Amino acid sequence: MRERSFVMLKPDAVKRRLIGDVLNRFERRGLKVVATKMMVINKELAEKHYAEHAEKPFFKDLVDYITSGPVLAMVIEGGECISLIRKMVGATNPKEADMGTIRGDYAIETGRNMIHASDSTESAVREISLFFKDSEICNYILPDEEIIYEEP
Ligand code: GDP
Ligand code: MG
Repeated sequence: MRERSFVMLKPDAVKRRLIGDVLNRFERRGLKVVATKMMVINKELAEKHYAEHAEKPFFKDLVDYITSGPVLAMVIEGGECISLIRKMVGATNPKEADMGTIRGDYAIETGRNMIHASDSTESAVREISLFFKDSEICNYILPDEEIIYEEP
């Protein structure tokens, strides 16, 4: 199995009907979606997910934002996909995000930056287990994996 990352489309992305556009980018890249879940996050889960920011001045706004509507939580799999997806997502502040990245193409403000993606192996493991049971993650092979990767 290749690396797995936890990715989440935030409520602004869902409400702006950008689910398809964003998923299309990951699929075109050759990555594999192995779990998805649409849900409204409660305050407790939001605070756990963003625990590292608990002392930051923007924490309350962040929790309000992430609980303000449905999110699409997902697990994406692929070769070194944690760093790859962070590059595709772009800088935290969309104004500084490169064109061609998701935030750089669709978003304007840090407090409405559309998407979350794990920043390390440790956070990916922690975040995936917060949102998904093992049984909710699908193991399957895509026929083009032998084309996309040198070593299938
Ligand atoms: P990320 O890993 O790129 O998502 O960024 P961080 O882990 O630093 O921050 C987590 C999330 O908190 C960001 O994606 C933003 O939604 C939010 N955030 C970070 N900094 C700020 C800020 O200065 N103001 C506000 N309103 N939100 C922020
Ligand atoms: Mg982060």
